[in-house]
Amino acid sequence: WGYWGAPNPANRRSLLIFLKILNAMIETASAVGHAHDDNCIFCKIAAGHIPSRKVYEDEELLAFHDIAPWAPVHFLIIPKRHIASLAHTQPADAALLGRILTLAPQLAAQEGCNPYPAGGFRVQINTGEEGGQEVHHLHVHVIGGPRPWKK
Ligand code: AMP
Ligand code: ZN
Repeated sequence: WGYWGAPNPANRRSLLIFLKILNAMIETASAVGHAHDDNCIFCKIAAGHIPSRKVYEDEELLAFHDIAPWAPVHFLIIPKRHIASLAHTQPADAALLGRILTLAPQLAAQEGCNPYPAGGFRVQINTGEEGGQEVHHLHVHVIGGPRPWKK
């Protein structure tokens, strides 16, 4: 155990507390970090530098119509903060993801999707190349309206 000596229970407890604090710090950093990516089209839309047809906006979320809709209703919900994909989310992002998912049905109804169960909508999160993700800023597709759809 060399210089540090053999761990005793008190040391182990402080080590565990230290690791918990470190973990919390990493989660917080990932939740506030990477706020903006200069080369990201959705960051530019979130910042208002590129126009979009807005569906909804609050402090942390933006929803806007997809530029190439597959269906009568097709909009995207994004966090304003740059998160590259669903694969980049952390436990600290759980509330953000929950807000996006609970917003989806409200906005779907607002944008004209027919009510469940005869109506409804599809929620899709393409993740990574093999997942079909083209824009690498987390976005949730909300797609609906009377069929047929393009995809
Ligand atoms: P994904 O394949 O999941 O990455 O989807 C990216 C989506 O973003 C596609 O459906 C595009 O049509 C849409 N999109 C790309 N650029 C814009 C833009 N400037 N405004 C609105 N939607 C966009
Ligand atoms: Zn971005």
